[in-house]
Amino acid sequence: IAQLYGPLNWFGTYYRIIQKNFIDMEKLLELFDEPVEVEDPVAPAQLVVPRGEVEFDNVCFAYDKQPTLRGISFKVPAGSTVAIVGPSGSGKSTILRLLFRFYDVQGGRILIDGQDIRSVRQCDLRQAIGIVPQDTVLFNDSVRYNIAYGRAGCAAGVSMKEVMAAADAAHIHRRITGFAEQYETRVGERGQRLSGGEKQRVAIARTLLKDPRIVCLDEATSALDTSTERQIQTSLREMTQDRTTLIIAHRLSTVIHADQILIVQNGEIVERGTHAELIADAGSVYSDMWMKQLTDAANAASYNPFLDAD
Ligand code: ATP
Repeated sequence: IAQLYGPLNWFGTYYRIIQKNFIDMEKLLELFDEPVEVEDPVAPAQLVVPRGEVEFDNVCFAYDKQPTLRGISFKVPAGSTVAIVGPSGSGKSTILRLLFRFYDVQGGRILIDGQDIRSVRQCDLRQAIGIVPQDTVLFNDSVRYNIAYGRAGCAAGVSMKEVMAAADAAHIHRRITGFAEQYETRVGERGQRLSGGEKQRVAIARTLLKDPRIVCLDEATSALDTSTERQIQTSLREMTQDRTTLIIAHRLSTVIHADQILIVQNGEIVERGTHAELIADAGSVYSDMWMKQLTDAANAASYNPFLDAD
C-alpha cells in the first residue's frame, strides 16, 4: 500500500499543480477549448532574454481548417509598446497565445531576442513573459500567495518583503493592510471579495514580482469608475515602462501612447504605424475607427472607457 501510495500521492500533487497552472493560464488567456499540446524539442535550449525583443515573422495559424492568422509580421523593439486593435474575432488574442506558445505556429516563426520560441524550454519562455488578463483568476488562498505565485508559478521561496514591495508598486498594499488578516486574508471565490480593479492590481503585483522582460496585456473592456480606471492606468504604465509590451487595446489613451499600432482584421495586419501616422491618412481603417469613436462620444451620454483619452 505504501509503495502504491507514494507514487499516487506524488501524482496527485503534480496533477493538482499542473491542473492549477493550466486552469489559471487557460483562464488568463481565455482559452475555452483544449489547446493542442506543444512539445519541447529533445534538447531544448535555454532561452536567454537580455533585451526582450519580440518578432513575428510571417506567422500563419489555424485552430481548424479556417485560417485564423495569415502572414503576421511585426517587430516589437525591446522596451517598446505595441497596441493590437481590431474587431472581435480578428485574431488579437491568438497572437498573444502563440507568443506564450499555447499553440505552435503552422507557418513562419516567432522570435524572442532572435531565438525561435519552439527551440527553447517552455518554462523559460513562460518565465520571460508576464500576463495581465482582463479578468484575473485568484486562487482560493491568501492574498500573499496570490501575489507570490507570480514567481515561476510557485509561491514558495518568495519573501514577505518582496510581496509587500510588489503590492505597494501596484497600489494595492494599503487596501490589503486594511483587511483584518492583512496579507493572510483569503481571497478567491470562497474568500474576501475583491473588485475587478483590485483583482487587476493583484495581477499587476504578481507580474511585478515575476519581473519579466515581456508583458502581454489584455485591456479591460468593462468600465471601471473613472478614478479607479486612471489609477489602474498609472500602475499599468509604470509596469510596462521599461518592458516590451504587447497590449490588446480598447482605450484610445493606450493606443495614442503606443510606439506602434497594429490594426488586425480577419487574421491579417491591414495597417500599422503610430497614432499620428495612421490618423494622417484620412482613408485608413484607423481613421474610420477614430472618427466613429468621436461620433459615438458625441452621441453617448454615458461614460465610454474607450474615449477616456488622457
Ligand atoms: P476578441 O476581441 O473578441 O477577444 P480576438 O480578436 O482576440 O477577439 P481571437 O480570440 O484571437 O480573436 O479569435 C480569432 C478567431 O479564432 C475567432 O474566429 C475565434 O472564433 C477563433 N478561435 C479562438 N479560439 C479558438 C479555439 N480555441 N478553437 C477554435 N477557434 C478559435
